[in-house]
Amino acid sequence: MSAARAGKGAAIAGVAELLAHAHLIEVEAAERYHMLADQMEVHNNAELATLFRKLAGHEEHHAREILEQAGDMELPELKLDEIKWPGAEGPETADFGEAHYLMTPWHALMIALEAERRAHRFFDELCQTVDDAEMRKWAEEFREEEAGHVRMVEELLARYPEPAAGWAEDDDPPANQE
Ligand code: ZN
Repeated sequence: MSAARAGKGAAIAGVAELLAHAHLIEVEAAERYHMLADQMEVHNNAELATLFRKLAGHEEHHAREILEQAGDMELPELKLDEIKWPGAEGPETADFGEAHYLMTPWHALMIALEAERRAHRFFDELCQTVDDAEMRKWAEEFREEEAGHVRMVEELLARYPEPAAGWAEDDDPPANQE
């Protein structure tokens, strides 16, 4: 476990591996936004469901673009738990273990924000550690992209502020509806 924290940039061997990471990050983001959209549909928040669906589409589009940019390059197959995230954070799916059935738009957006920030940190760290000019060019491009995602989610958070204390208290929880 601790070994994964040493030398992130050095751990990525070349452009193909970098693109494979970027592709996996986009695919994961798309799945996350679909899940958040599902969650918002459960809560009848059509506005945010539509928005998360749109973000999922945006990430899927970018994932396809990365494959196109890779062209004939053969990308190594990666698994999510092989991504060396900066810091000691675990894989993103862990966030959903805590998803509350009363999760508000604010909670959904905070999950999205944390994930986008982590993706941004990933490429930022890569920019700072990689020696190869070609790899840095790609890393900088992806860092910009993720910075844009962070800003977008932050703007949304301004519209969906943190709910007042006591949001999780429900007089009629689903478990009692028998
Ligand atoms: Zn992103």
